[in-house]
Amino acid sequence: MSAATVGLTFNVTPAVKRAPADERERILANPGFGRVFSEHMAIASWDRARGWHDAIVRPYGPIAMDPGTSVLHYAQAVFEGLKAYRQKDGRIAVFRPEANANRFRRSARRLALPELPDSAFVEAIDLLVRLDADWVPTEPEHSLYLRPFMYASEVNLTVHPSDAVTFVLIASPSASYFPSGVKPVTVWLSEDFSRAAPGGTGDAKTGGNYAGSLLAQAQAAENGCDQVVWLDAIEHRWVEEMGGMNLFFVFGSGAKARLVTPELTGTLLPGVTRDSLLMLGKDLGYEVEEGRISVEQWQAGCADGSLTEAFACGTAAVITPVGAAKSARASWVIGDGKPGAVSMRLRSALVDIQRGAAPDVHRWMHAVPLA
Ligand SMILES: *Cc1c(COP(=O)(O)O)cnc(C)c1O
Repeated sequence: MSAATVGLTFNVTPAVKRAPADERERILANPGFGRVFSEHMAIASWDRARGWHDAIVRPYGPIAMDPGTSVLHYAQAVFEGLKAYRQKDGRIAVFRPEANANRFRRSARRLALPELPDSAFVEAIDLLVRLDADWVPTEPEHSLYLRPFMYASEVNLTVHPSDAVTFVLIASPSASYFPSGVKPVTVWLSEDFSRAAPGGTGDAKTGGNYAGSLLAQAQAAENGCDQVVWLDAIEHRWVEEMGGMNLFFVFGSGAKARLVTPELTGTLLPGVTRDSLLMLGKDLGYEVEEGRISVEQWQAGCADGSLTEAFACGTAAVITPVGAAKSARASWVIGDGKPGAVSMRLRSALVDIQRGAAPDVHRWMHAVPLA
C-alpha cells in the first residue's frame, strides 16, 4: 500500500503483530494526555540535494540519534498539535488539518527549516489515522491527538540551517482535559519573564518557546496559580497569551456580548482554535474583535462589571475558563469566578462540530478515508 503526494510518496509497512484488542481497550479506558501512543508513526527525510524523500508509515518505535545531531544542541525544530475525533456516525474526522499544515510551513520558514507540502502533511495524517483507526477513542471529548514535528537531523555542531531534516508524525489517544467537568483556572501575570519579543519566534510553534516558559510557569505555581499569563515584552502591560493557549475576553452578557481577543502582533501564536472561535462567535451573533487589552483594562473591567468572562483556548482543552487573575500588585476575580455562559456556549458549539453533532458550515472537519 502506498499513496502518492505531490513529490512525496509514503510507503506503508504495518506492524506484523498488532496490539491485542483487550490491551488496547485497557489503555483507551484511561489514556490521560500525551503518555501513550498508537502503533504506527510516519517519518520522512529531507536533505538539501534531494529534497523530501524516504517517506514511510511504519511501526511506532525509538529514533536512534548521533549525540552530535544538531537539534539536540541548537533546537532547530517545530511542531504542531491537532486532533482526530470519532464522529457520531462512527467515522473519523480531523479538525482543520490544512490550517495546521499551513502554520507548520510558516513555523518551519521562521526556523530556517524546509517546508513540508500541505498535501504530504495531510496524507501522513490520513495514512496513520487509517492504520491506527482503532486507537481513536469513542468517549465524548476523547480524541486521538496528532503530533507532527520536524527537526534538524544533521550531525554537525556548527551553527547553521541544517542540511538534513526529519519529519515525524505520532499519535496519542487522549482523554478529556477536564475529566470531572470544566474547571476555571487562576492565572499569574508574569512581569519577570517574557515569552516572546518583537522579531523573535513567538509566532512560530517551536519547542524553544516552551523551554523558555517553564520557569515562569513554576513561578505561577509558587504564587498559587494554575497558569502563567504572558504580557508584551516591552511595556509588560498588554495581555498576550496564557501558557500555550490564546485568550479571549467577554464584555457584556447574553446576546449583546462582545468578544475581544488580543490581535496577532507577531509575538502571539496564531491559534487555530482562536481563529475558529472568531468565526463561531460571529455565527452565534456576538460582536467579535481583535484588539489590544491591557492589564489595567482587565482589572478595571472586572471591577465595574463590564468585563464579564475570560477564557483561554487551544487544541488540547478547547476552552478553559479563567476564574481569577493575580499579579505582584493585585488580584481580582473575573465575573463570579465560575465558567461563564458565553464561554460555555462557545465551547459546546465547537465541541459539537468536532464530534459531528452539529452542522459543519465552515467545512472544518476533514474526513479520514478509511479502508
Ligand atoms: C499551540 C499554541 C496555541 C494554541 O493553538 P491551537 O492551534 O489553537 O491549538 C496558543 N499559544 C501557543 C503559544 C501555542 O503554542
